[in-house]
Amino acid sequence: MTRPVLPGSTIGVLGSGQLGRMFAIAARRMGYRVHTFSPDYDTPTGQVADVEVTAPYDDLDRVREFARRVDVVTFEFENVSAEAAAAAAAHAPVRPAGGVLAICQNRVREKAFLRARGFPVAAYRAVATAEELAAAFEDLGGPAVAKRAGFSYDGKGQVKVSAADETAAAWEHIGRQEAVLERFVAFDHEISVIVARGLDGSLADFGVLRNTHARHILDYTVRDDTHPSRREAVEIARAIAGALDLVGVLCVEFFVEKDGTLLVNELAPRPHNSGHLTVDACGTSQFEQQLRAVCGLPLGSTRPLRPAAMANILGDLWADGEPDWAAACAIDEVKLHLYGKSEPRPGRKMGHLTALADDGAQALARVLAAREALTVRSRDRS
Ligand code: AMP
Repeated sequence: MTRPVLPGSTIGVLGSGQLGRMFAIAARRMGYRVHTFSPDYDTPTGQVADVEVTAPYDDLDRVREFARRVDVVTFEFENVSAEAAAAAAAHAPVRPAGGVLAICQNRVREKAFLRARGFPVAAYRAVATAEELAAAFEDLGGPAVAKRAGFSYDGKGQVKVSAADETAAAWEHIGRQEAVLERFVAFDHEISVIVARGLDGSLADFGVLRNTHARHILDYTVRDDTHPSRREAVEIARAIAGALDLVGVLCVEFFVEKDGTLLVNELAPRPHNSGHLTVDACGTSQFEQQLRAVCGLPLGSTRPLRPAAMANILGDLWADGEPDWAAACAIDEVKLHLYGKSEPRPGRKMGHLTALADDGAQALARVLAAREALTVRSRDRS
């Protein structure tokens, strides 16, 4: 039996963004040390880690050296190459395993994996040339979305194709590379399910999170404990975690069609933006759950402590100057999370707000009011 990685040990995190930061905070609270590895300095994770290593992900010698100094390696960023994951795995357990990364970092592999195992996905075709894209459009017979296979997230590397004469431009737009063309889904709304799977195969989920996007970026999330497809969505997410033989946390994003049909849109083998409310609203957060899973500890209770909603704080909110943090903090049961990023660029995730309340609708109203308060007062002052 594999022995657990106990408190006092050192966890290595590949990647250094806000997900690593919140993971590191959970890990340090439980007495672990944290090392982070990324090409950047003074990062959201590095600011709260014991050691920040700055090197490119493809510097395999540095990756090996990093892995030698830790007891287990995890990641917060899935675009780490298979070579880097293998280099780390030669010196420390990597959880989730490199094979999970390889599937989830490439849309062609991810969709093929889901389809082969019978999980519901929108009709799609894998394409590798402009001609194949045109033929796939013909084949799918209607509006579609072209998505680059790799490095495509938050709407980047994606374009809607509404007519046959748009396929050539779409091929240019996605950078003339391997892609999927999938049916445009006129969904009613979007949900996600976050599930953790332990080293012993045990599972724990956080229920249904209902997500609203703006400009392809997550805008706000509210936990929906009465969602009509809750049971099915949770079952699918748990089954995918099992099929991947995952050790760690997995987010499964779904489209929900008007008739209630669920289609898996995307997988992320790590904590996810839609699960940030678990930090303030659940017995165990998604980050502590990742820690427990990768360390081989028992998973914690995901019991909701209070209805909750989360709203992202993007760099756009700085357009009229520093947001009015005090105004948001003045609202009852609102929690402010900032990621330590110094440059507030438009579309950049700088932080988020979580609000708790007696029910989801009230929590959502509260968190949106808190976000509004960030800019209303600063505008009044100027
Ligand atoms: P993704 O990066 O695949 O998660 O896509 C980002 C967002 O674009 C999704 O959350 C949807 O709001 C939208 N989107 C992606 N694919 C489709 C599709 N096939 N049909 C309709 N909307 C889509």
